[in-house]
Amino acid sequence: MTDYEALLSNVLKNKKETKADRFVPPQVEIFQSGQKTMIIVDKLTKYINRDIKHLAKFLMHELTAPGQIDETGRIIIGGRFSKKQVQEKIDSYLKTYVFCKQCNSPDTQMIKIDNNTFIKCLGCGAEYPVGRLK
Ligand SMILES: [Zn+2]
Repeated sequence: MTDYEALLSNVLKNKKETKADRFVPPQVEIFQSGQKTMIIVDKLTKYINRDIKHLAKFLMHELTAPGQIDETGRIIIGGRFSKKQVQEKIDSYLKTYVFCKQCNSPDTQMIKIDNNTFIKCLGCGAEYPVGRLK
């Protein structure tokens, strides 16, 4: 590892540690193609440390539309939805499954115990159940 790489890795590490202080969710790209809506969320899911399948399932449920994840990791929803519609659902996902209800930190983990899903906050230690996706 060169000095530059070491420095960079340090910067990234520090950045991760302070992300709760200035959390701005990475933008998702939403565009329509024919009768489908494509959503590119890889930056977001990586940042919030959530499984894209869970997010995709949530979006399909909320938009009451079929969907899938293609081989390049995009979520493809059957039906035309506006950017605003999709963004609202993503915001609602973040609110429900990412931000801590107690301290609003995004540094949380989703834990599954049996059939129940819990959110555990790495900031304040809060732990609470969230609704299960069907
Ligand atoms: Zn918290």
